[in-house]
Amino acid sequence: MRRDGDDVIVRGWKTMVTGGAIADAYMTYVMNPENDDLAVVIVDRDAPGVIVQPIATMGLRSAGLASVSFEDARIPAANVMQAANGLDHVQAFLNPRRALLSCAPIGRMERIIIDCVESLGRTIRYGQPLTAMQIVQARLGKMQMAVHVSRMLVEQALLALEEGSASPLFDEIVSTAKYQVTEHALAVAIDALHLMGGRGYACSTPVERYLRDFCGLIPGAGSQDILQTNIGLMTIGRGSHGG
Ligand SMILES: Cc1cc2nc3c(=O)[nH]c(=O)nc-3n(C[C@H](O)[C@H](O)[C@H](O)COP(=O)(O)OP(=O)(O)OC[C@H]3O[C@@H](n4cnc5c(N)ncnc54)[C@H](O)[C@@H]3O)c2cc1C
Repeated sequence: MRRDGDDVIVRGWKTMVTGGAIADAYMTYVMNPENDDLAVVIVDRDAPGVIVQPIATMGLRSAGLASVSFEDARIPAANVMQAANGLDHVQAFLNPRRALLSCAPIGRMERIIIDCVESLGRTIRYGQPLTAMQIVQARLGKMQMAVHVSRMLVEQALLALEEGSASPLFDEIVSTAKYQVTEHALAVAIDALHLMGGRGYACSTPVERYLRDFCGLIPGAGSQDILQTNIGLMTIGRGSHGG
């Protein structure tokens, strides 16, 4: 970013922007050479030099993911929301987002379980519905436990955020909720494939779509590996004192 009269000129690009294809404006983090720090700038989509390229993704297709480029985009200096400390701003933005984006997958997991119970209850094998088989019951139990664990974690994370007791930049429980919901959601979708046999693999059932959507949680809002690493570092930092 560089200043030019009453404007700033922004150059750079970011791929995988949620809503990028449909947004009217972009909250953007750019280096500010005046203070060698990260600034927060609102860039209007209609500004000259803004180029948007939608990205075809394996799932979350209504999320409008896109690559957004700023080729010397001219932005009014008044759109500089914050001239410095953009790293804290983005952390404070992403931290609650991790809890919020963990909510919808729990509903999806429940839907998968309901569909499995209905479908397996109607499928007669060896003279009885598949739901009468213990291996099926056990797997459904495991799937239901995944929903319970996910819901408890997300509720705790949301409560901490609402009460203001969550760490504002990187909260361990909020990140744990995002990590665990992602892992559980992927496992529940795979469990459904085990239960549904060949039907689960067909595009006529929604399991394949849910699985593709859940995969978007792996890198989104802090990749799973990065969340693990951050929490591992915090654990090491606490040393033998625990906490
Ligand atoms: C569905 C979806 C929506 C998204 N929405 C947005 C959005 O709205 N705005 C936005 O800015 N971005 C968005 N992203 C981008 C997302 O934040 C990045 O994909 C993510 O931060 C990983 O960065 P990267 O893709 O450049 O992976 P890379 O940096 O190339 O890393 C690849 C992998 O290497 C590992 N890795 C890299 N660095 C480290 C590290 N320091 N410690 C441990 N492991 C590491 C991680 O496992 C990572 O997944 C979205 C992505 C997806 C999939």
